[in-house]
Formats: sequence, C-alpha cells, structure tokens
Amino acid sequence: MEEYKQQCTECGKTFIVRVTTDNVPGCKEKEEVICPYCHTEVGYRMTSGFVYTYKHEE
Ligand SMILES: [Zn+2]
Repeated sequence: MEEYKQQCTECGKTFIVRVTTDNVPGCKEKEEVICPYCHTEVGYRMTSGFVYTYKHEE
C-alpha cells in the first residue's frame, strides 16, 4: 500500500491519497484521483488495486 499527500490543482487544498495494491499481476487499470473537497479529477494512477482520497486535517 502506498500513501502520500497531494495538492488539488483546482481548489489548492491538500488531501491524502491512498493506493492499495492487490497481488494481481498484469491487471492494472486506470483509477482516477478525485479531490475530496471539490470532487475534481486531479490525476490518475495505474494500479491493480484501488485509489482512495481523504481530507487532510491540519
Ligand atoms: Zn479540490
């Protein structure tokens, strides 16, 4: 599993991106990264798991 912070290009707020990885080789799909504040798609990850985003509370 991978977790990092990302800043939204639309509203400028920072949120947590969590990428889970299932052990399924050769089955990667495009998972959108959605800002939890303004629900804008700010990118995507290629993963065999899922992408979750959380609001980052200071
Ligand atoms: Zn945003």
